[in-house]
Amino acid sequence: MTVALVTGASRGIGRAVARELAAGGATVVVHYVRDKAAAQETRDTLGAGDHEIRQADIADPAQVKDLVDQTVARHGRIDVLVNNAGIYERQPVLETSYVEWQEIWRRTLDTNLVGPANLVHAVVPHMVAAGGGRIVNISSRGAFRGESTHPAYGASKAGLNSLSQSLAKALGRHNIVVTAVAPGYVETDMAAPYLDGPGGAEIRAETAIGRVATAEEVARLVAFLARPGTESMTGAIIDVNGASYLRT
Ligand code: NAD
Repeated sequence: MTVALVTGASRGIGRAVARELAAGGATVVVHYVRDKAAAQETRDTLGAGDHEIRQADIADPAQVKDLVDQTVARHGRIDVLVNNAGIYERQPVLETSYVEWQEIWRRTLDTNLVGPANLVHAVVPHMVAAGGGRIVNISSRGAFRGESTHPAYGASKAGLNSLSQSLAKALGRHNIVVTAVAPGYVETDMAAPYLDGPGGAEIRAETAIGRVATAEEVARLVAFLARPGTESMTGAIIDVNGASYLRT
């Protein structure tokens, strides 16, 4: 039985990923930080199985370690790690106080970059012992396109891309496949203030398909990358942005 740990799975992309992995037969650990009821709601939609919810603040290294230790104690293994949890805080350089600037940088890097790195460090020895695994990191188009109003976010996702590539190189010989998925805007609570605001139509018009991605579209790709048989994709960073930003 495949055991998958999905961070930030109480809602949005994480919830859709949890559903997709469970539908494919995995036992899913639905991780959350604050909204236990929403995490339980996610878990309840996964159907029968040994799925469970687990709480931890990804920005806290001790809680990350406990999350992994407790998951392995309960299920014996972690085959798939989806680093999905993240924050998107606005901090335009000319409008943000120096104190706030530093706080947002620290919070964003701790959550979006160092948290996933710590999860990887805690999980990887178990994957090696089990003969392999899959790590899928949820990055962002902003890592490539620039984030004029969210610079720490863009930098954190660029760092996550680099981390994914470094890990792909380091862990390939252990049959651990590491990939990243880089969505543009996705219809979730995180993006709602932008998609539902005055700039929403413009954001949708940036794509070639006239709409932004759904969480389910991202989840289908994550599930594909988490399956055996995609080993040669290790190190890949895959766009899900409706051709709104094409990298060469
Ligand atoms: P969301 O806000 O709905 O979900 C993010 C989840 O991360 C939440 O459940 C939240 O509780 C959790 N989280 C935040 N800080 C945490 C912490 N310190 N510890 C543990 N969990 C924490 O957002 P989403 O749109 O579903 O985003 C999921 C991922 O996709 C994020 O990494 C985000 O950066 C990325 N992404 C989203 C979009 C978009 O437009 N929605 C675009 C590109 C990338």
